[in-house]
Amino acid sequence: SWLRICERLKGEVGDVEYRMWIQRITLGPLDEDEITLYLPERFLRDWVRVQYGQRLQTLWREESSVVQHVELRVDKRAQRTPITTETVSAAYGTHGASTDIQSLAREDAAALEKETAVTSAPSVNEVRNDLAVPLDRRFTFDNFVVGKPNEFAYACAGRVADHPASPGFNPLFLYGGVGLGKTHLMHAIGLKLMSRGNISVAYMSAEKFMYRFIASMQSKSQMEFKEQLRSVDVLMIDDLQFLIGKNSTQEEFFHTFNALVDAGRQIIVSADKSPSDLSGLEDRLRTRLGCGMVADIHATTFELRISILEAKAKASGTPVPPKVLEYLAHKITTNVRELEGALNRLIAHADLVGRPVTLESTQDVLKDMLKAHERRVTIDEIQRKVAEHFNIRLTDMSSARRARAVARPRQIAMYLAKQLTSRSLPEIGRKFGNRDHTTVMHAVNRVSELMEQDPGLAESVELLRHMLES
Ligand code: ADP
Ligand code: MG
Repeated sequence: SWLRICERLKGEVGDVEYRMWIQRITLGPLDEDEITLYLPERFLRDWVRVQYGQRLQTLWREESSVVQHVELRVDKRAQRTPITTETVSAAYGTHGASTDIQSLAREDAAALEKETAVTSAPSVNEVRNDLAVPLDRRFTFDNFVVGKPNEFAYACAGRVADHPASPGFNPLFLYGGVGLGKTHLMHAIGLKLMSRGNISVAYMSAEKFMYRFIASMQSKSQMEFKEQLRSVDVLMIDDLQFLIGKNSTQEEFFHTFNALVDAGRQIIVSADKSPSDLSGLEDRLRTRLGCGMVADIHATTFELRISILEAKAKASGTPVPPKVLEYLAHKITTNVRELEGALNRLIAHADLVGRPVTLESTQDVLKDMLKAHERRVTIDEIQRKVAEHFNIRLTDMSSARRARAVARPRQIAMYLAKQLTSRSLPEIGRKFGNRDHTTVMHAVNRVSELMEQDPGLAESVELLRHMLES
């Protein structure tokens, strides 16, 4: 029964997490083999899905042979009085913010209002728990695989965990692409700090920060919100790029930031770009964000992907042949989360059917997933690689210069653009200094001809194609 599942989860996750997440779930209908669970807020739904989705599914299957699948939905009926337009637009500033985000904010603010009502007269500890989001215990330094692309960020994170608020490291600004370990490192810092006890750490996404802020305005508890934030020793705000265009929230964050840094507390921020590239953030905020330590996490290398897969395969206890790991590291290149997801799926499948993981089973099990990962080459990339290869300037790809040393590589780039992308001739022409589609067609034909006549050129083009596709 649902009650039994709740009891078991409570035992597994502990009281605080249970109250914060699981207790918010309401039981929905069972339809054929699918049970629906509702959560009052999108954020909660996503969180529960990520953190407990798998476990809920397993527990349900154990509980009832009928249930195969657990569906998590947002239940609008749980929504309270919507927040007013004024408070929302105040929080967003007058520009920006699509209605979509606005309604999302409204939705969450409404749910948050309820949340605050529930936790009236909380103890100090609960204030913090209520303010921040719990840390994922798997995201430790030990579980983070270090390689060239992330060693600097890793070192900075370790340093801040050992000596918070030391000069030169405040704020710590971590940036990099999606799924490269920013959140993991932040949690690792938080976990390490808290393991030494007696230090209050608040972690939340910039999105959550905004919701809290809006909700505090809605419930006229701004002072409380400010005080709560300013009472922590370490404040971590994840995915700061979310605040672009949300001017009032930025302003609020700026003041919080200054107050904390002035008081000698540590701030850790992550974003998808460096402070100077985060256009759309207020200048003074960008300046301050860049004042401490800025560390980027670069895209993974093949070696790092292999090390990560090896570590995760080992931790799983299911043997995975090296060939399979190489195959995955070769196919899934952008995002560690997806790399991990693919491996987990293979392992789950192998456990389920009771057969070992093989290269064949991998290709079969991950068919749809890998399709989405076929390399999509962009014209920019082609231009860059070709210019690099022939040692010409990138700007010459779109310049009017006709000298052969420039014109030929340009034609080759056009040829590759036609071969490797799904762009039309006119689209390609536009990317090459607004050239006409007939010029592109001519280039494509000319390069094909030349490749037949000149094996050296054919080889160069094939090499370029290979580099672009792998
Ligand atoms: P980001 O916040 O940069 O989008 P995350 O920190 O959420 O990325 O990482 C995505 C997933 O990949 C997480 O499960 C994380 O544990 C894992 N991950 C990323 N980088 C590493 C690494 N170097 N070693 C181990 N796991 C990693
Ligand atoms: Mg993240």
